[in-house]
Amino acid sequence: MNRYWSSVVHRLTPYVPGEQPKQTDLVKLNTNENPYAPSPRALAAMAQEAKESLRLYPDPNADRLKQALATCYRVRPDQVFVGNGSDEVLAHTFLGLLRHEQPLLFPDISYSFYPVYCGLYEIDYRQVALSERFEIDPRDYTRPNGGIIFPNPNAPTGRVLPLAAIRTILDANPDSVVVVDEAYIDFGGESAIPLVADYPNLLVIQTLSKSRSLAGLRVGYAIGDSGLIEALERVKNSFNSYPLDRFAIAGAVAAIEDRDHFEQTCQRIIRTREQLARRLSELGFEVLPSAANFLFVHHPGRDAAEISGLLREQSIIVRHFRQPRIEQFLRITIGTDEQSERLCQALEQILK
Ligand SMILES: *Cc1c(COP(=O)(O)O)cnc(C)c1O
Repeated sequence: MNRYWSSVVHRLTPYVPGEQPKQTDLVKLNTNENPYAPSPRALAAMAQEAKESLRLYPDPNADRLKQALATCYRVRPDQVFVGNGSDEVLAHTFLGLLRHEQPLLFPDISYSFYPVYCGLYEIDYRQVALSERFEIDPRDYTRPNGGIIFPNPNAPTGRVLPLAAIRTILDANPDSVVVVDEAYIDFGGESAIPLVADYPNLLVIQTLSKSRSLAGLRVGYAIGDSGLIEALERVKNSFNSYPLDRFAIAGAVAAIEDRDHFEQTCQRIIRTREQLARRLSELGFEVLPSAANFLFVHHPGRDAAEISGLLREQSIIVRHFRQPRIEQFLRITIGTDEQSERLCQALEQILK
């Protein structure tokens, strides 16, 4: 506390990201990073960029990147917004499209940045309880609201909502913006991007941080009706003219264009996820079905915080949330097969 702070800052409860320890020999399965390297074409494009033009400001509109994304997702460039990580895209969305008279709706178990943005932008919200099995029920999203947002697949549960259910939510809410945060969609869900053609109130947000192994580059994007995109551009151009630097634009364009690398990486992670899910079930864990690059698991016989602590003693980090309804769950990022093996051996020993 400090007497010079604004009243907004006094009231903030900032987001706390998963730990990024300095120790390097860890099996780090706590922040859903991709265990594989990004596209070699992205690395080459960034090296080239470094040689040429850092003296100059980047393109404030990142037109090359918008064009690459528009081609990839079969939309027009004016239906694409790009930002410094999807967290920044989300922040602009909260201010530009979700701040209204009625409360914003999102699931009670969901990305914990959402309530933080509500605090920052003074947005009223209601958290809607997921079912016992941690599913979103579209019928719960029919009450009056000033907007709706949920991750699909949901985080930290990994559960995916089919497109038909998303259509139901969109049909019931023609007067609100519905935001689908698809950070994990490439690991097994069906994207809502094709629905953008039918729904002027749908905004889909994705990131290069997970499925394209570029969490360190900070690139995210939104796809939606050009009217929604214009709102985001207005916020962005009132905040920072150049959110994407030259490395980010060059690397992101090449990463989006390298489909083979992307698809192979996603397939490897999906394979490892299915193997790990089987092994964990054999060890007595209840494993929720996951369409993401992590598993959300619960052991009926052992305390989740205790398991997490014992894993840490063996240099394996997983994510435990001290939060109602999920304090007995662990979220485990899918790493390489070797990392899965180390995790399972450690768990065998702990559960013996
Ligand atoms: C990781 C994540 C993001 C943020 O991704 P960045 O692009 O790295 O900012 C957004 N939403 C959800 C649900 C995530 O898990």
